[in-house]
Amino acid sequence: MKIELNDAEKWINLFVDKLEKNKAELNELDTAIGDGDHGTNMDRGAKAVKEAFAKKTPVDLSELFKTTAFAMIQKVGGASGPLYGTAFLDMSKAAKDNDDLSVLVQIGADGIKRRGQSDVKMKTMIDVWQPIADDLKQGPLTHQQVTDALESTKDMVATKGRASYLEEKSAGHLDPGSQSSAYLFESLIEVIGG
Ligand code: ADP
Ligand code: MG
Repeated sequence: MKIELNDAEKWINLFVDKLEKNKAELNELDTAIGDGDHGTNMDRGAKAVKEAFAKKTPVDLSELFKTTAFAMIQKVGGASGPLYGTAFLDMSKAAKDNDDLSVLVQIGADGIKRRGQSDVKMKTMIDVWQPIADDLKQGPLTHQQVTDALESTKDMVATKGRASYLEEKSAGHLDPGSQSSAYLFESLIEVIGG
C-alpha cells in the first residue's frame, strides 16, 4: 500500500497529538519498569515536531520523515529519542524512491534493531514495530493487530533497555516504548483506515 504526503502528514500530526495527550500515561508505564520519563521525553519530541512543521511545511515524504527524525533526535533524549530518530531517518532515506508503507515501516523497524542492538521478544518497541511491519505486508492494519502487539509485551521479561535491570520483575507490565509505538500505528489506521 502506497502512502501519500498528505496522509503521512496527518499520520505524524495525529501521532504527536496522542503523545501530548497521553504524556501522563506513558510516564506511568515507565515508572513501573523504568525511570518514569518516557511520556515527558516523547511530549518534548511531539512539541518539537509541531514547531518544525510550522516553521517549514515538508514538501515530500522524505522531508516529512526527516523533519520528524531530527526533532526526535534533538528533543526526546533517553533511549527512545535516538531509536525513533533512527527509524524516521532511515524511512526518510528510503522514501526518496519508495512510497510503499510496509517497506517503509520494515525499514524503520530495522533501523531501531540496528541502533538498539535489539530484536523481538526483548520487551521493547520492536515488539510493536516488527509485528506491525509484518501485518502491513499482508494488508490493511487493524486496531486488533496493534492491541495484540502491544499486549504481547506485558508478559515478556525485558532483556534490553532500563527495564532489563528488573529481570523477572519486568514481567506483568506493558513496555512504555511499545505503547508510544502503538499510538503511532493507531494514528496510521485513523488516517488510512483499517
Ligand atoms: P530511557 O529508558 O532512557 O529512560 P525512555 O523512557 O524514553 O528512555 O524510553 C524507554 C523505551 O525505549 C522502552 O520502553 C523501550 O521500548 C525502548 N528501548 C529501550 N532500549 C531499547 C533498545 N535497545 N532497543 C529498542 N527499544 C529500546
Ligand atoms: Mg525512561
